[in-house]
Amino acid sequence: MTDETIFAEWREAMVIEQIERRGIRDPRVLEAFRRIPRHEFVPPALRSRAYDDGPLPIGKGQTISQPFIVALMTSLLQLKGDEKVLEVGTGSGYQAAILSLLAKWVYTIERYDVLARRAEATFKRLGLKNITVICGDGTLGYPEVAPYQGIIVTAAAAAPPPPLLEQLDEGGRLVIPIGDYLGQILQVWTKSGGRVDYEDILPVSFVPLRGRYGWSPQAWERY
Ligand code: SAM
Repeated sequence: MTDETIFAEWREAMVIEQIERRGIRDPRVLEAFRRIPRHEFVPPALRSRAYDDGPLPIGKGQTISQPFIVALMTSLLQLKGDEKVLEVGTGSGYQAAILSLLAKWVYTIERYDVLARRAEATFKRLGLKNITVICGDGTLGYPEVAPYQGIIVTAAAAAPPPPLLEQLDEGGRLVIPIGDYLGQILQVWTKSGGRVDYEDILPVSFVPLRGRYGWSPQAWERY
């Protein structure tokens, strides 16, 4: 068996055992997880663990999230295929790659240049053409092409950054972990009639969101 055949078997097991069995049933979401090769997004030395049921290190003290959490956050956006989506926290690029199969355009922002460039190279290698990678502070959003029908933040904040709520389209959904290193809750914020409202989903554990509307290292540790 080739490596690719083994990875495909592990990927199928990941979809069934870690994602579908835990309640993610949207066929478009499941198909996206079947198509995107997660092993392309982890460091070469960790490829044999790419389909494990947990996060993995990707360098710069950052992580690629657990497959189930990526699937849950993706499904909470309720994408139909014609949306413009903003991701804050490109990391490995795996989440953006999944989104690229479910939305029309994906804009993803990463603060570490080395991670942004590596993700961009991976998208190119895989032929994913509808993703734009921006290196910068994602808490400011990317007003150039706003509004977004979906926004996903893959690092924990004290509160949703105001620019992201401003750049959310009417009827749009913002998925974001809120909290600190002691505890976080995944929330979905929706905008309707100019009002924003949120719903708690489940406890999660993410690295801190930095930047203008994120945690400072001192505040994260002191809290
Ligand atoms: N979505 C990623 C994936 O699929 O691999 C996982 C993201 S990792 C849990 C969180 C990422 O958010 C890290 O790469 C970190 O550098 C980035 N980050 C934190 N604060 C940020 C900010 N203000 N702007 C952009 N990226 C930020």
